Amino acid sequence: MPLAEDDPAAPGTIVGLGLFTAKDLQWDDRVEFSDEKTDAYGMPAMSIRYRLTERDHKMLERGRAQIVRWGKAVGEPIDERPFTMPFGASLHYQGSVRMGETDDGRSVCGPDSEVWQAPGVFVAGNGVIPTATACNPTLTSVALAVRGARRIAQELGR
Ligand SMILES: Cc1cc2nc3c(=O)[nH]c(=O)nc-3n(C[C@H](O)[C@H](O)[C@H](O)COP(=O)(O)OP(=O)(O)OC[C@H]3O[C@@H](n4cnc5c(N)ncnc54)[C@H](O)[C@@H]3O)c2cc1C
Repeated sequence: MPLAEDDPAAPGTIVGLGLFTAKDLQWDDRVEFSDEKTDAYGMPAMSIRYRLTERDHKMLERGRAQIVRWGKAVGEPIDERPFTMPFGASLHYQGSVRMGETDDGRSVCGPDSEVWQAPGVFVAGNGVIPTATACNPTLTSVALAVRGARRIAQELGR
């Protein structure tokens, strides 16, 4: 990719390399809704609660070393200091309405997306993915949504 408008680099001669890492999930990682504060839509304001574990830090370190190796393997790195996206800058948020096998208080919905505590309410999207996939979650979300949709269609007799 050209780095600037007047960059003489031919397309394809400069590439960006990026690595995703899966979060070491913790029971305390959660979205919290405020009883007092509201967001711009007047809905309960949310805060994301999570922390990086020792394993997360090791994984990030490994990723940074790996990306430099890969850069050298495919060409000449412009800069050997890879940057890490700031916390919360993930493109792949997951698990906010976790799917679980049983209603054991650790999940929001069952395997067919119906909310345990609200029969007839179905949730879909990345939020149902209960584990950290790190990369490209959309196909998984769609597959799980299809399962829920089939269940709804079955109940409607279609
Ligand atoms: C830059 C970028 C690149 C990505 N690239 C890839 C990729 O290559 N492959 C891949 O698999 N995934 C990729 N992803 C991730 C992918 O976009 C998401 O996994 C996917 O869109 C998640 O789907 P979702 O339905 O869970 O959430 P969303 O697509 O975010 O849908 C949530 C919807 O809810 C609506 N909404 C929010 N609040 C309210 C409200 N209060 N009332 C009504 N509606 C509301 C929003 O407007 C939105 O339409 C990328 C994401 C980003 C940001």
